[in-house]
Amino acid sequence: MKIIKVRFLKGEVPSGRAYTYFSDAPVSVGDLVQINSSAKGIVIEADVPESEIEAFRDKVKTIVGKVVAESEKEPNEHFNVSDSVAAQERYCKEKEYPHFAPNNGICWKCNQQIYAEGKNRMGNLSKGISVEEAGSELITGCPHCNWSYCE
Ligand SMILES: [Zn+2]
Repeated sequence: MKIIKVRFLKGEVPSGRAYTYFSDAPVSVGDLVQINSSAKGIVIEADVPESEIEAFRDKVKTIVGKVVAESEKEPNEHFNVSDSVAAQERYCKEKEYPHFAPNNGICWKCNQQIYAEGKNRMGNLSKGISVEEAGSELITGCPHCNWSYCE
């Protein structure tokens, strides 16, 4: 457990005085951190001595963690045909969208599985639709041959 000082961010700009927090995550000066569910802050001191917070130690809260930039995130995609079929069906039902994608995931134009790797019209690898995509966007065409299912 580290003791750190952070300044809250107002938009992109640090504002106000520095507040002391605990951090479970290893952070260093200049790191962007999620202080609580709604506020982000910037670390201005990463190794505050225990003695400095003795008087109010029980009032010190713990930050949520370090903010990881979108580009540093691990790609978190999974491919699984039956999960994707179910995810797309659920998504369409939730949003009351028409379900365009083939029920078994097989493209009726190119005969490839849209929820798995395939080949595009140039013969190159194309990645297919992940379970995450199938659960969060409406599928209107084949990711491999680009055939539109909604025309
Ligand atoms: Zn296709």
